[in-house]
This record gives sequence, structure tokens and C-alpha cells, in this order.
Amino acid sequence: MMKSSTVQQFILELLCEEHAHFTAQEVYAHLKPRLPSVNPSTVHRALERLTNSGEISVSDMGTGAVVYEMVGSSPHHHLVCQGCHRVITMENEIVQPLFDHVEKRFGYQLTTNHLILFGYCQECLRTQK
Ligand SMILES: [Zn+2]
Ligand SMILES: [Zn+2]
Repeated sequence: MMKSSTVQQFILELLCEEHAHFTAQEVYAHLKPRLPSVNPSTVHRALERLTNSGEISVSDMGTGAVVYEMVGSSPHHHLVCQGCHRVITMENEIVQPLFDHVEKRFGYQLTTNHLILFGYCQECLRTQK
């Protein structure tokens, strides 16, 4: 029986070094060669646990499957182009004032730490005209 903490550790290392967004299936594909006894449900459970503890973020980037990413020390957000699917990273400073405002206005504590905004990038807008 594989210890779930081992799986979590491997997931954190993977997401840390690749610095990318992975679907659960991609995480599993990366882990399998290193942890041959791992199975998809173990990966799902580990991802869920890491998400709940706030160590990784889970986002719907419009690709059909949610993606997981390391939260790290500096939170960030993304603009996702619906034309060319290019992903732009936004600094937290841009979004934080909105979060602060929402928390004050609604007496809410937001747990979203990875905001995805959909739209069309400059290039797609240019070629559409
Ligand atoms: Zn991200
Ligand atoms: Zn685009």
C-alpha cells in the first residue's frame, strides 16, 4: 500500500519543477514512471488533499479538464484566450484590490487563489478585423 504522503510529495515536486498547469491525468502520467504502484484514484485523492490544504490550486481553464498548479509564495491569475488558447499570467497586485473589495462588501472570506478570466487576446482581436 502506497503512503499517500509520498504521492503528495511527488506531486508537489512535479508541479514545483515544471511550473505548469497539469490535469489529473497528466499528473498521473508523470508520476507513473517514478511510482509504479500509483493508481489514478490515489492521485485524485492526493490532489484533492493538497487543494484543500491550499498548497495547490485547481482551475477550470476552459480545456475540458481542471488543471492543478503550485500556489507558491506569490499568488497569480490568468487571462485565457478563447481564440488561440494562449495563457497570460497576471500579477496578484492587479486582482487583490477586487478581492479586498468583495470581502469587505459581502463579509466574505475568499478562498479562490487562482483566478481565470476568459476573453480574446490582442492578436486574435487584430486578425478578426
Ligand atoms: Zn496559474
Ligand atoms: Zn488569442
